Amino acid sequence: MDLKSQHKIKEILNKARKERKSTKRLIKSFSAVKPMLLDNAFEDAHDFVFKRTDCLVCANCCKTSSPIIINKDVERISAHLRMKAGDFVVKYLRIDEDEDYVFQQTPCIFLNEDNTCQIYDIRPKACREYPHTNRKNMYEILELTYKNSMVCPAVYEILLRLEDVGR
Ligand code: SF4
Ligand code: SF4
Repeated sequence: MDLKSQHKIKEILNKARKERKSTKRLIKSFSAVKPMLLDNAFEDAHDFVFKRTDCLVCANCCKTSSPIIINKDVERISAHLRMKAGDFVVKYLRIDEDEDYVFQQTPCIFLNEDNTCQIYDIRPKACREYPHTNRKNMYEILELTYKNSMVCPAVYEILLRLEDVGR
């Protein structure tokens, strides 16, 4: 399994959407797994899959969803752009249904045509941490991980590698 071509990435995303019910069942089975075991299994699968993934070919996260933007992101990015924080908020952000700041538009305004990020070194914290599959306490974000499996082909591949964890 390599996620290094557009064709493969599309194929995996189509499969993830088609198989979402079985992904939901898999996610539910994780509730019986000890948190540390689950974290270790996710971390191993994350490392395995991302060694075989080229995010610059994909960029589906940047194209289809917005990260949550926290105050520190606003301060850092607006300073970099030599803008006042308030002007940055008005120009680029909106408040979503969960009352979080997100970018006004998708694909992301900072995404270049070659899928690189114009503000990569100072990108939002949520972009640095996406898709959140190598963090502690994965049990806390299983619903989000389920949703991300239909945005990020790597998340779907990671979940496929965890099929035996809940058994
Ligand atoms: S800021 Fe950069 S990494 Fe984050 S969504 Fe935009 S293009 Fe992607
Ligand atoms: S994190 Fe996932 S959705 Fe984003 S570019 Fe990489 S493989 Fe694609």
